Amino acid sequence: MKILLVKCHKNTIYSAYQPIICEPLELEYISTMLDEESIKHNIIDRLIDNRSFKNCIINCTPDVLFLTGYITAVDTILKYANYAKKQNKDIKVVVGGVHSEVNYEDFFSLDIDVIQHQGDLHTSKALIRFLKEAFNSSGKEKWRDFDYKSLEDISGLAYLQHGNWKVNEKKAIDFYTLPLPKRTIMKEHPYKARYMNYIGLALLKTSISCPYSCRFCYCKEINKGIYLKRPIEEVIMEIKAIDEEYIWIVDDTFLIDRTSTLDFIDRIKKEGINKKWIAYSRADFIANNEDIIKMLSEIGFVEIIAGLEDSSDEFLDSYEKGTSKNEGEEAVRILKENNIRLTGLFLAGIDFKKRDFKRLRAWIKKMNLKSYTVSIFTPLKGTELYEEYKDRIDVKDFSKYDFLHLVLRPTHMSKLRFYMYFYMIYVEQFFSSPYIRSFLKHRLKEILKKKSISK
Ligand code: SF4
Repeated sequence: MKILLVKCHKNTIYSAYQPIICEPLELEYISTMLDEESIKHNIIDRLIDNRSFKNCIINCTPDVLFLTGYITAVDTILKYANYAKKQNKDIKVVVGGVHSEVNYEDFFSLDIDVIQHQGDLHTSKALIRFLKEAFNSSGKEKWRDFDYKSLEDISGLAYLQHGNWKVNEKKAIDFYTLPLPKRTIMKEHPYKARYMNYIGLALLKTSISCPYSCRFCYCKEINKGIYLKRPIEEVIMEIKAIDEEYIWIVDDTFLIDRTSTLDFIDRIKKEGINKKWIAYSRADFIANNEDIIKMLSEIGFVEIIAGLEDSSDEFLDSYEKGTSKNEGEEAVRILKENNIRLTGLFLAGIDFKKRDFKRLRAWIKKMNLKSYTVSIFTPLKGTELYEEYKDRIDVKDFSKYDFLHLVLRPTHMSKLRFYMYFYMIYVEQFFSSPYIRSFLKHRLKEILKKKSISK
């Protein structure tokens, strides 16, 4: 049996510059499990290896196709599934990923056989074993009849049985453990993954879900909102196996509590690990733990991405963020004093008036922030907010759910005016931030060089 694992993408307005390219970590964990089962497989991710999906389907002739991607890639996933089935009607198509965890019904298609809507690897393992069992390696027919009875026992799967979708209940996991990911694709394509100018980047996940409940956020829906950390021993073992200089800890929020952060710092020091780190944090943790930020800087933290969201306590309260404008200002000061670059994440509310855009720009200027992104308020399907706003949502195309498009009408102005004020923030960043300009210049050179080589 041959399996093709594909990370699916959709182009956005950032695509030309690709400021962030990540390794397909979730597929690398599945790769480890497939090795354990001695199943031949390949991972493709066009942002890393530039390979064409269609060519791979034709040349690799997989028996099973695993597709994964974010909300913006829903349409790409459906198209890939359709293409694969047209090439080979016997291929089994499996879909997973964060969108399928909460919105599995978006993949109810006759071109898809199984949807994994429980993101843990026990479910993946049980599914792989089921497929291995059902595959007929010697006979003319590639597949024995699916024994749907055994699929019924695997929690967190939805599957197409004789034209009808059956959905097994999802169970939250209560212990979070992961194997060592098989990073072959990254070894074959080193220096492809990047976060802005940090090149040679590996991802690391030390926890699942988030214990906070900011109203706009999808992360808290993962694992039914139950936050779990991986055992530190396992995390250290994984770090030691990473070759890359930069490690981006992609926990929804990494700096949660003093005890576990101090434990992490202590272990990194004791093991003599010398890496450069990037991680997400809340502003209140930074503001209230200056001593820890100093220690993080000493062990190599170079960048913290913090959800500052807004400069107004009124808006912060309405998002139920649990942080304040003062904490945001303290976080900016502390990171600056400790030489850790801050990327601030902001939210442009749908009820923003002209004065709110002005206020946000003025605050960014006052704080002298050079690296930040502003997202347009987008209620993601599967969250409580989506239910609240669903009657006002007038964009159904998921590829537009990239936080740079309006999916609902602004309350106080036309869409055009909203976009004008919104993009003005980015124009201002371009002119005021040498960091952003140098990144864009550098990236443009890389792109032109690549084009001239390929001619
Ligand atoms: S915004 Fe950050 S802190 Fe809030 S729920 Fe999401 S991940 Fe957690």
